[in-house]
Formats: sequence, C-alpha cells, structure tokens
Amino acid sequence: MGRTPDAAGALARAHEHALTWLSTLPARPVPPAASVAEVIAALGAELPDGPTDPMAVVDLLAGAVERGLTAMPSGRFFGFVIGGTHPAGLAADWLTSAWDQNAGLRQVTPGATAVDDVAEAWVLDLLGLPGGSAVGFVTGGTMANFTCLAAARDAVLARAGWDVGGYGLVGSAGVRVLVGAERHGSVDLVLRYLGLGAPELVPVDQQGRIDPAALRERLGGGDDRPAVVVLQAGNVHSGAFDPFEAAIAAAHEHGAWVHIDGAFGLFAGATPAYRHLVHGYEAADSWATDAHKTLNVPYDCGLAIVRDPTALRAAMSMHGDYLIQDAAGDPFEKVPELSRRARAFTVWAVLRSLGRSGVAELVERLAGHARAFADGIAGIEGAEVLNDVVFTQVCAAFGDDARTLDVVRRMLDDGTAWTSGSVWRERAVLRISVSNWSTTDADVERTLDALRAAVTAS
Ligand SMILES: *Cc1c(COP(=O)(O)O)cnc(C)c1O
Repeated sequence: MGRTPDAAGALARAHEHALTWLSTLPARPVPPAASVAEVIAALGAELPDGPTDPMAVVDLLAGAVERGLTAMPSGRFFGFVIGGTHPAGLAADWLTSAWDQNAGLRQVTPGATAVDDVAEAWVLDLLGLPGGSAVGFVTGGTMANFTCLAAARDAVLARAGWDVGGYGLVGSAGVRVLVGAERHGSVDLVLRYLGLGAPELVPVDQQGRIDPAALRERLGGGDDRPAVVVLQAGNVHSGAFDPFEAAIAAAHEHGAWVHIDGAFGLFAGATPAYRHLVHGYEAADSWATDAHKTLNVPYDCGLAIVRDPTALRAAMSMHGDYLIQDAAGDPFEKVPELSRRARAFTVWAVLRSLGRSGVAELVERLAGHARAFADGIAGIEGAEVLNDVVFTQVCAAFGDDARTLDVVRRMLDDGTAWTSGSVWRERAVLRISVSNWSTTDADVERTLDALRAAVTAS
C-alpha cells in the first residue's frame, strides 16, 4: 500500500490554478498559444510505472495544458455558440464532483433529486412552458434533441398502433420528419441515431425561418405516415425564430408531434423584452435547449423538455431488479443514461443566483451586445450585416468572399477576440455569437476596434 493520496492538497492546488486561469481571462489572447504536439511534449506521453501524488498531477496538468487552452470563457470569445460559466454554476460544479452522486435514482440521492425537481419546475416557469412537463438533464442540445425526438418517434408510432419498443422500426409505417431547410445539423444526426433517416426539408425565408404555408402544403400532400415537425428557436447564423404559432397549428392539424430545437434561443422566452420571438411556442410537444449556452452553466448540460411525461418515460425507462425504483418516477427515466452526473445542481445554482430578473437581464445583455456589434459593423466602410439582428447572432461580410475570409483570418491572428467564419446563404461570413454572461461593453468596443483594423489591413 502506498501513502493515502491527499485530497485537500490536490483540491487546494486546483483552486489556485482555477483562480489564476479566471483572473487572466480578461487580458490573455483568446486563441491558444500551444499546439497539441507542444502540449503532449509538456505533459509527457509516457504512462508512468508507479504512482504520483495527486497534488503533483494537478500541477503538471495545469502547467502543461494552459498554453493549449482557448479562452472560451473570455468575454471576447464569440465563436460557435459558447456560453461562459457563471460563478455560481462553476462552484456548484465543483461540489457536484466532490459529492459524486449517481443521479439516476430518486430515493438513493434525495438531495440530487430534490434539486432536479426544483430546477425542473423553475425552468418550466421561467420559459412559460406547460407545468407538469418533464425536464431531463442531458449533456447538451444534441442529446436534448435526441431524447425529445425518441419520445416523439415512439409516441406518433404508438398512436398509429405500432409499438417501437416491442417491434423496432422494421415493418412499421415509418415516420416522416419535416424540418426547416436551415435546421441545425444535430437534428440530422439524432435522426440517424433514431433510425429515421434524413428529414424532409421545408423551404425557409431570407432569415432561415420555416415557411408555414409550405409546411402545411407538405403535410397535406397525401403521405399519411405519422409525422414529426422540428422547428427552431434561434438559427445559428441569423438568430431567427420560426413562426411558431402558424407552424405549430399546421402541424397539429395533421396530428404531427412538434419539437422545437431551441439550443440557445429558447431562453428568449425568459424575458419580457424578447418573449415575442417565441410567441406560441408553448403549444409544441417538446423543446430542447442547452443550459451551457445562454444560461451559462459549465459544460456539459442540456435540457430535454417533454409535455407528456409518460411519453418521455415510455421512451427512456428500463427496469433492473437491483435498482431501487420509485413509483413517482426516477430522474434516469427522463434521459438516455442510467448513470449520470447530477447536472441539475449547476442549473439550480445559476437560476438561484440570477433570479427571474437576472436571467432576463442576462438574455437582454447578450442581445444588446449583438445589436451593438451590428451597429458598429454597419459603420465600417465596405462592411455589411447580412442578417436581421433579432437576438444574439450577427453575420457580417466585407465585400467578396475572399476579403471576408481574409478578415476572419486577421481577426484570429490578432487574438483580441475570437470571431469565426462560416457560410450562410452561399456567402462567406464572419459570425459573432454573443453568449457569455461576462461580456462587457468594453469587450464589444475592443472587438470592434480589432475588426476595424482587420478590415483596414485586408
Ligand atoms: C449548439 C446547438 C445544438 C447542439 O447543441 P450541443 O450542446 O452542442 O450538443 C443544436 N441546435 C442548435 C440550434 C444549436 O445552436
């Protein structure tokens, strides 16, 4: 037997390294300073023959990887759709690891289950979604889409007299899945997981919003298979929201299940100032969102929300004689995993810390910064904002595609901020996604200064 490893020492070192990282975020360049090979060289690739004290391991890890980290939690990281970590969520996440609860079973961890129950009710209340819906705490938007669409698939086939759990999909009538042409790629991915194949694409307007008349026409086109319609709250390029009221009405007239992918946009529903964007969304059957985007809890956390808890349970539950199951329902029956981290702790902590007004202010601040970016970019000679900036996403172009790509490259080389490129409506764009609680007006100004310099130099 070796010495007993010292938890206190390792945790103290981790605490110190974490504070150093957080305190250097405002000043450090956003892109990483070291390559994968350089980090491996600093770590050492050899598996040691014997033990190392955890404290030394923490020091080695922090020392070796830090130069290879992107400052994603920086207030000037505007790539992809990446939230920061609100301090209450980060601290709760540390406790989540220390407590190390397997959060699947209600009676085995009453503490985790209680927080799961409370956070579930708060999420529904804040978003104005039907009380009594089930909320599963999953890893992210992709798995939230998966979880909801598993319930959708099984429910629409059950209504058509087919038991997916008993017979699988082979021999069933099949399921039509209709989505707007600008859906997020994770929708296609989860349809593959679910054995449903590629979706049918419905035309969208200039901002990427589904055309409800086209949806209605396709649904009435004579294909009588059970249908699922996937709508979107927050297009990753334009930030646009589908016209929920009309689209949901069309879908429900044809008996379809309506799911909404609102990975970052669903939280528009948490603020009176932006609630009009999700008008009518509460009539859907399921909703997916990320907590690690707009809500700014640490990775990884998504929310799978299903109006009919029995449909979710039917898709996700199992039985094990050795488990201690509760008739009231167990948290694992709302998610694909059996064993699971207690993710509700971080969601509860951020909601408890911000309160109703704090969540609204957070969302309004993100969208306000996006507006400021749009205004700043519009004032740059030769620059053009391509989308209607209704929420947190901005797409800009700087003349032809070659020049836009050059500006994207110059911004990354400069390192003041992270704004990455994409292609939207067949044009190269520079994308700005404002998703971090800590972004300040000064961060926006500094980023615009860097952008002006990049455009001048290109
Ligand atoms: C980010 C995103 C997803 C996927 O979420 P993950 O948390 O990355 O799995 C799905 N849909 C939309 C609209 C997104 O922005």
